[in-house]
Amino acid sequence: MKTPSTLQGLIDALRVLPGVGPKSAQRIAYQLLEHERDGALRLARALETAVQQVRHCEQCNTFTEQTLCEVCASPRRDAALLCVVETPADQLRMEQTQTYSGLYYVLLGRLSPLDGIGPRELHLDRLMKRAANGVVQEVILATNFTAEGEATAHYVSESLRARGLRVSRIARGLPVGGELEFVDSGTLAQAFIERRQVG
Ligand code: ZN
Repeated sequence: MKTPSTLQGLIDALRVLPGVGPKSAQRIAYQLLEHERDGALRLARALETAVQQVRHCEQCNTFTEQTLCEVCASPRRDAALLCVVETPADQLRMEQTQTYSGLYYVLLGRLSPLDGIGPRELHLDRLMKRAANGVVQEVILATNFTAEGEATAHYVSESLRARGLRVSRIARGLPVGGELEFVDSGTLAQAFIERRQVG
């Protein structure tokens, strides 16, 4: 029996989901159509709305529906502190610790020479300009403790220090190879409080 083409189209589309291969995609498609038709419609609409309305903050790159995100727009945040993270999900994790009152810069990636991602592809000049705006007093590097996250932190700290800026790195309380996204709030908060000045 041949799979109806619209059903096959759904299966192919589902493979965009992280960790979903051909078998899982097929299982999800059948499950949705058999038992979750209302939920599937809600999912379709939510995806469409989010993709249309969520964009990157013009100042820090995290997700927002406005020009500036809530953190950047808040007068209560301490503009002297700038925390550098890899992804919007990492920025969210930092916010969830409720220990940080400064602003952010989201890299939207990490240095990865093997994938052809160097300082230029990451637009690190934008970060340098932001950090050197005369208001920022300390840049806190909160990239992941993976090889690429460490290499990124090293490169960024060297560039910032060459410009006379104070740089710190969140503490190594996190597991080696650890990604911020999967660390519990308490551990992340502690790593942040115990951050060390670089150099
Ligand atoms: Zn922002």
